[in-house]
Amino acid sequence: MPEDFLPLCLPSLDHHEISEVVKVLRSGWIKSGPIAERFEQEFVHVVGAHQAISVSSATAGFLLLMQALHIGPGAEVIIPSFTWPSFVNMITLLGATPVFADIIRDTFQIDPTSVSRVVTPKTRAVVAVHFAGHTADLDPLREICSFQKIHLIEDAAHAILSEYKGRRVGSFSNPAVFSFNATKNITTGEGGMISLADPELGDRIRLLRNLGIDRNAWRAHGKQAAKYDMIEPGWKCCLTDIQAAIGLAQLRKLSQLQKKREHLVSLYLKEISCVEDISVQRKAPYVTRHAWHLFPILFKLEHNYWCRDWLRDELMKRGIGSGIHYLPVHSLSYYKGCHELQREPLANTNYVGKRILSLPLFPDMLESDVLRVVNTLNSIISS
Ligand SMILES: *Cc1c(COP(=O)(O)O)cnc(C)c1O
Repeated sequence: MPEDFLPLCLPSLDHHEISEVVKVLRSGWIKSGPIAERFEQEFVHVVGAHQAISVSSATAGFLLLMQALHIGPGAEVIIPSFTWPSFVNMITLLGATPVFADIIRDTFQIDPTSVSRVVTPKTRAVVAVHFAGHTADLDPLREICSFQKIHLIEDAAHAILSEYKGRRVGSFSNPAVFSFNATKNITTGEGGMISLADPELGDRIRLLRNLGIDRNAWRAHGKQAAKYDMIEPGWKCCLTDIQAAIGLAQLRKLSQLQKKREHLVSLYLKEISCVEDISVQRKAPYVTRHAWHLFPILFKLEHNYWCRDWLRDELMKRGIGSGIHYLPVHSLSYYKGCHELQREPLANTNYVGKRILSLPLFPDMLESDVLRVVNTLNSIISS
């Protein structure tokens, strides 16, 4: 492996994160507390959310949300197969049935017409994944969900600062789940945030986030702050103040980080147009800001399915990392045999899943790194 290895992504951390963490370590309070609450408040301000609930990961947040909505055995939840398996797993572990929807071939977003074909009286929710930071088309999905009286949930793991028709993801009234794991646009190591409008649903998620134990009820009853009660068994999914301290520092530089992503992508788009057999994600007109969590390309050689993996190996030999986002969930061993989850051929998911590749993109990357990636692609493909 060459010494000048260019990874797929790297977090942007500096003395700001370090000093915020040190403050928490010195304070004597390191579990979830005042800093996690401040992180929630600043997040509300940044995305324009009604309220925000910090959690230990997006996966955990989605689990709490599903349980808070009483989604369990007998319920179906529609989700694209073209996604990371974590939310699909949570649906499965709660005893509900994930039902896969197809994507649109050139934007890679969930296809509302596919959703309307797989919906049944058992459907309780639709999960819209904002793939790569481009958003799903929310209006037609909202229409389907309000007609069917089911929940629309946004998987916003890639979509902090994404805008749909001029409004930020996270500012709508339906729940959206964000991720701060180490690869995401801002990170807390592991972590996540749920934005939503309904105050009762929010209270229920907060309860389930900490074992279902309600201390406030006892505070309200009298002066016995040490007592507690349990309303319903919950999980243990809080974000610690140590993690939230990293998040606060990250949130404060988010807009700078985002500008760097946008600058690098504009260079990628200009340079990559000359590379044969490569196409890029089409940007739908309803997207007013793309968060560019990933920079995906499609490698189009039709005769050989292994070409994408070959291209990936060749890039790696030349010191360039890349990623596969995503292998369709229905093609993974556990889900392969579950045919009832697949009511549609998922033709676009299969097509894209075999050809897509994410190129390196992170804020501290240099313009010369972008040129190196494109030149390397060019020389591999033309040889
Ligand atoms: C990262 C990711 C998740 C899970 O986020 P965690 O915080 O790691 O649990 C879910 N969905 C998508 C699309 C993701 O990229």
